[in-house]
Amino acid sequence: NLSNRLDSVFKKLKGHGKLTEKNIEDGLKEVRMALLEADVHYKVVKKFIGDIKERSLGQEVTKSLTPGQQVIKIVNDELTKLMGDSHEELKLSGTLPIPVMLVGLQGSGKTTTAGKLAVLLRKRGRKPYLVPADVYRPAAIDQLKKLGVQLDVPVFPSDAKADPVQICQKALVAGQKEGCDTLLIDTAGRLHVDEELMSELCRIRDKVKPSDILLVADAMTGQDAVNIAKSFNDTLDIGGVILTKMDGDARGGAALSIKSVTGKPIKFIGVGEKLNELEPFHPDRMASSILGMGDVLTFIEKAQSVVDEEKAAELEKKLRKSQFTLEDFRDQMVQIRKMGSLTDLINMIPGFSKNKQLKNLEVDEHELVRIEAIINSMTPLERRQHTIINGSRRKRIARGSGTSVQDVNRLLKNYTQVMKMIKKISKGGMRGFGRGMLP
Ligand code: GDP
Ligand code: MG
Repeated sequence: NLSNRLDSVFKKLKGHGKLTEKNIEDGLKEVRMALLEADVHYKVVKKFIGDIKERSLGQEVTKSLTPGQQVIKIVNDELTKLMGDSHEELKLSGTLPIPVMLVGLQGSGKTTTAGKLAVLLRKRGRKPYLVPADVYRPAAIDQLKKLGVQLDVPVFPSDAKADPVQICQKALVAGQKEGCDTLLIDTAGRLHVDEELMSELCRIRDKVKPSDILLVADAMTGQDAVNIAKSFNDTLDIGGVILTKMDGDARGGAALSIKSVTGKPIKFIGVGEKLNELEPFHPDRMASSILGMGDVLTFIEKAQSVVDEEKAAELEKKLRKSQFTLEDFRDQMVQIRKMGSLTDLINMIPGFSKNKQLKNLEVDEHELVRIEAIINSMTPLERRQHTIINGSRRKRIARGSGTSVQDVNRLLKNYTQVMKMIKKISKGGMRGFGRGMLP
């Protein structure tokens, strides 16, 4: 990752006092590569590197940092400054029901995102109302109606022959009658930005006066995302952006480009087709993930939301006393499964993704079933004291669980590795762990 690459560039420099033009040049070459690899727009990269160069020149190398770390720190600071440092919420103010407009090109994910936002708003105690205002694509209204039924969220019965502006105005009245407080307006898209679409969106905006206008943009469009965002923002003065399909190959550079070009915050990201796959966007974390330092904070948040406090405390106590048994291991596996795949999680932790032993630690659904069977075939004593499980016990356990001795061996190896990993994480608390990994 970038940290390592920079470290090798700057290795010889430690203690040389000032950062010189030449060594900054070398370091920034690496930064530039990392940004381009993350699919940040080339013009944005150029400007960004220029800014950093200016800031770095003549800076004293802080004693506690290597010059590589110093550049990383400057880059990280600048990235964070550019992206903003905290999550920006939806703007929901004014008289009820509050209209929110979703705009964007066809296929960017507007309709899906309308459903996702309805879920999110309802979780927060609001009463959303879905308004289909795409009268051009034949199935567009039905698509949102279906989502509404699936989610049990009311949908305005839009007439496909009506004018979208009128639909929205009528929906305001109907939404209020339904007792709803937030209108999610799903507008039409086109394959490309065009005059007609923009003027229709302007007419809706001028009549409905939305509290927030969200551009829904597909992160996979990479470099194009910049031009799309710029057109929508120039015409509509959007309030923020939702980047969809961040679960794909997109490297997240679109977020940086869009923010840099429009000045508007990315508020949420879509991370899958399912309706609960919407996440608040944290620009500060984005910065470190672009730099390749691992998404430590996201990992920690995920871990914390799944493992409930009490259980975690209990687990920590057991770990401290080295009483983390195979039974606990089995329970832990189930917990970890809830967070996503173990491999994914491990890859989010810097350092761990490179750990050779942990690389082999892949746990799939079948594996989990096998693990349960093996642990269930052990005696209670074996589960608490795995060291007593010798060759003949392994044979018996394998037979009892319908697995092989190799399976049992692998489980025991994984168990000891996970135990080590959890011990490392819990040392000094998870937060301390994360902070320690940053340069
Ligand atoms: P619209 O034309 O802008 O309304 O786009 P749709 O909401 O119909 O979505 C287009 C396609 O993108 C659908 O197949 C969605 O399931 C898919 N989609 C939307 N958001 C996401 C996302 O965050 N991740 C993934 N993988 N697919 C998404
Ligand atoms: Mg749609």
